[in-house]
Amino acid sequence: MPDLYSVDQALVQILTDFARLPTERISIDDALGRVLSENLRAGDDLPPFANSSMDGYAVRADDLAALTSVNAVQLQVVEDIPAGTVPTRTLEPGQAARIMTGAMLPNGADAIVPVEQTDSSWESDGSAALAPLVRVIKGVRTGDYVRAVGEDIQRGETVLTEGVVIGAVEIGVLAALGFSEVPVVQRPRVAILTSGDELLRVDQALEPGKIRDANSYALAATAQLMGAQVTRIPPARDTQADVRRAFTDALDWGADILVSSAGVSVGTVDVVRSVLESMGNIGFWRVNLRPGKPLAYGSIKGVPFFGLPGNPVSALVTFDVFVRPALLKMSGHVRDNVRFVDAVLQEDVQSDGRRSYIRVLLTEQDGRWLARLTGTQSSGALMSMVRADGLLIIPEGVTRALAGETYPVRQFRA
Ligand code: AMP
Ligand code: MG
Repeated sequence: MPDLYSVDQALVQILTDFARLPTERISIDDALGRVLSENLRAGDDLPPFANSSMDGYAVRADDLAALTSVNAVQLQVVEDIPAGTVPTRTLEPGQAARIMTGAMLPNGADAIVPVEQTDSSWESDGSAALAPLVRVIKGVRTGDYVRAVGEDIQRGETVLTEGVVIGAVEIGVLAALGFSEVPVVQRPRVAILTSGDELLRVDQALEPGKIRDANSYALAATAQLMGAQVTRIPPARDTQADVRRAFTDALDWGADILVSSAGVSVGTVDVVRSVLESMGNIGFWRVNLRPGKPLAYGSIKGVPFFGLPGNPVSALVTFDVFVRPALLKMSGHVRDNVRFVDAVLQEDVQSDGRRSYIRVLLTEQDGRWLARLTGTQSSGALMSMVRADGLLIIPEGVTRALAGETYPVRQFRA
């Protein structure tokens, strides 16, 4: 183990340790937001039959060859074809069939004349009696207003690929192709823990020396946004028994991953450290980043464990940098939707040579992003995260980032 990990070295190690969770089949009704676990091929053509894209008349385009701006062509209307029905007649020369949007093209027809291009009109409910003749005023060419078989999707085509997050349009495709069940990756079960004698529950009144537990809520919410199933274990006190109980509760819940905050910094490490070491196999890593103190990482009874710093900003940033990629891998995501933009720093920033994640506000000017600091970079100041549009990343080894220099920013929202 290196004495000091770079962020990238730590990430390489973490990503080798994690694998995709097993898969399951679920109802399409529950599939929104889930990660597809295999490529899906279309079992049908879409549309499955040639159909009309307009309300109008199915015709043989050749019949309209004689049509000019002064001479309409008159056709015999032999059938009415509402959507959902099957035409019974084959169009002979000189014949047409009234047809509705989405209705099947009759044999012999090769184009649709929209009703607006005829002398005909009908009530929008389609209840008007079928006139025996129709005059076509403006012609069409072969194929016009016809949706061909397989125009959208061809049978056998791969429509959705493994690892995509199923969104609303994907749900539409699944439904159109008859996938009432969908193969997906199981959602990770994430247990969120924290410890500290100073921590109160959210519903408790403040007392001298105490603060409310913010981290459990913020980290749980972050994991939920990634599609995880989450449990928040109530804050443990700084005793071995309580910390042990908290971890046992998390394991009993069936966690796939344990994420705790606090209790791993130098002053507080002993209680948590001795419990972690007795229950599992935990390494204490020094990772070269800011904010973020030593990171505890390993496993407890075979379940991977992250011990993040207690300061709320450090906890959120280290979750983003280390836990998020692990969760994405467990969840089977192939594409991370995090956006990075390059932004021009608007003020000088001192760094200490660690990779630094600086909370910034972004504005766009002349097609470039400009980044200003949100003010205090104290790792306890949650509001600086609320105000921030993203985290500007100053690479390792840079001690002075200057106004006018360009750096990548991990955007919080597009
Ligand atoms: P520690 O790592 O336990 O020394 O905690 C570092 C700082 O984070 C201290 O100021 C703690 O009070 C604070 N802290 C620890 N846990 C939480 C939490 N769950 N919510 C908010 N702040 C916390
Ligand atoms: Mg503490």
